[in-house]
Amino acid sequence: MINEYQLRVLPQVAANSDNLRKYVAEEQGIALSALKAVRVLKRSIDARQRTIFVNLKVRVYVNELPTDDEYEPVVYQDVSNSPQVIVVGAGPGGLFAALRLIELGYRPIVLERGKDVHERKKDLANISRTQQVDGESNYCFGEGGAGAYSDGKLYTRSKKRGNTEKILRVFCQHGASANILADAHPHIGTDRLPQVIEAMRNTIIRCGGEVHFQTKMTRLIIDHSPLTIDHCHAGIVVGVMAQQMVNGQSSMVNEKEFLGPVILATGHSARDVYRYLADAKIHIEAKGIAVGVRLEHPSHLIDQIQYHRKEGRGQWLPAAEYSFVTQADGRGVYSFCMCPGGFVIPAATGPEQIVVNGMSPASRGTQWSNSGMVVEVRPEDLDNVIMEKCNNVKTENDPLAMMHFQEELEKICWQQGNMKQTAPAQRMADFVNGRLSYDLPKSSYAPGLVSSPLHFWLPKSIASRLQQGFKTFGRQAHGFLTNEAVMIAVETRTSSPVRIVRDSETLMHVQVQGLFPCGEGAGYAGGIVSAGVDGERCAEMCALYMEKNG
Ligand SMILES: Cc1cc2nc3c(=O)[nH]c(=O)nc-3n(C[C@H](O)[C@H](O)[C@H](O)COP(=O)(O)OP(=O)(O)OC[C@H]3O[C@@H](n4cnc5c(N)ncnc54)[C@H](O)[C@@H]3O)c2cc1C
Repeated sequence: MINEYQLRVLPQVAANSDNLRKYVAEEQGIALSALKAVRVLKRSIDARQRTIFVNLKVRVYVNELPTDDEYEPVVYQDVSNSPQVIVVGAGPGGLFAALRLIELGYRPIVLERGKDVHERKKDLANISRTQQVDGESNYCFGEGGAGAYSDGKLYTRSKKRGNTEKILRVFCQHGASANILADAHPHIGTDRLPQVIEAMRNTIIRCGGEVHFQTKMTRLIIDHSPLTIDHCHAGIVVGVMAQQMVNGQSSMVNEKEFLGPVILATGHSARDVYRYLADAKIHIEAKGIAVGVRLEHPSHLIDQIQYHRKEGRGQWLPAAEYSFVTQADGRGVYSFCMCPGGFVIPAATGPEQIVVNGMSPASRGTQWSNSGMVVEVRPEDLDNVIMEKCNNVKTENDPLAMMHFQEELEKICWQQGNMKQTAPAQRMADFVNGRLSYDLPKSSYAPGLVSSPLHFWLPKSIASRLQQGFKTFGRQAHGFLTNEAVMIAVETRTSSPVRIVRDSETLMHVQVQGLFPCGEGAGYAGGIVSAGVDGERCAEMCALYMEKNG
């Protein structure tokens, strides 16, 4: 017999499968020997009261063992002899597009400018050691994309854009824990993600697809012949030109052509791609972003605040999360991409930039918890925001204006950080009170911090909204606004500063056929899961396009 129950249990019951089995047996009057298995289908923590409960939906197997799989695996077919599609970028958008193409019977050729997910790790370690960032292999570029070394949070606010649950199943099929199917806020962790990504690559190759590392698309090949031009389209994309490093040496590069329709999933940091599109007059537009800092607290403090108790998370609860949002002077101020028990990391993609972000291991067990604390900036705000600090940015009708704003701010930050990856930082309460911090707390940010008056040099419209936001959050969560927390500048890569405009039905670029702008870099996703969902949708639309056009 199989039954399903909704339970509300203490954390020590939820955290241990034997305890849970005993609890269910007692609660439902089932003999323990007859209760063969308890499978958790949904799990969420209710920390609203002083006694913390875990809400569970469980499936209980009485006198029989589970015979069904925890999830239905996706079937990937051999596509060695199928028509090919070029997928540029091996982030979640590109990888899920490639896997979906295989399901649909097309052969993905994946081009990735960075290195494979394991080689890439050495370049990440080098950033703190040498204070230099490799422009092709960093926290944003390389196999797995921007999400490879992250917290691996897998929840998305957007439910409407496709099958998010399928994305989770594909991750499980490639080695992620099946817990992600049950947890309300699933995450994989930076220590587990690389194996999952490698397994996804192996599926692509085993099925007859190709994955080329250190292979950077430099331009699209567009057929502009009269036959390809109609009242809406100015040509057809028939492939890409790419630079391929020879023996991994950046000084030796081969030009190579890859032919097929193109899914362009190059992420929010491929500024050379945006520049190329602007120069080639391929329609793009400026898009709103959010800008601010990483805020790092001791994790025990966040645990105490969020679990409303002195002992914090104790033995059975995970590092606590938070989410704050408010409005200040007509713009959103909010926490972003929270990493409980994580690290703040240097996420720049080139020289003369400081950009910070966050990641966590699966255990979320470090002594710090961080999140982006950001202010919404819209293209129409630029004149006011930028003119204060970023004089080099011209905003009028420039689709790259938001990107230039990011660049300027990242450069100012690098100058403030002694022209290294040491990041300018300020204690939180000092920032709110407009005081320089005479010292800084110990931080997880490996390249090091330098005390800096962020209240003074961040654009005023951002600094003052952050100050207002922090006061509000401090009122909502007693103890949150504290000098034990440190703000680390600057968080600019919250989403794409550009939209590569596509048709809402065909997902094809509005101007050139055969080009499918995809994922976060195209401005149609934000986060691992939504980029994966968008990758799948682009693959489906590309398959339809190929069916129609032979
Ligand atoms: C440090 C960090 C932590 C994050 N944490 C989370 C999290 O916990 N949860 C979450 O949901 N989101 C997180 N994000 C955001 C998430 O990673 C992105 O939303 C997601 O990766 C976007 O996927 P994408 O495939 O569209 O682009 P990307 O992941 O950016 O992938 C683009 C890929 O294209 C490649 N590329 C770029 N230009 C070229 C070119 N010319 N030729 C060939 N290849 C090229 C890049 O090297 C890159 O690998 C995090 C981001 C960062 C940076």
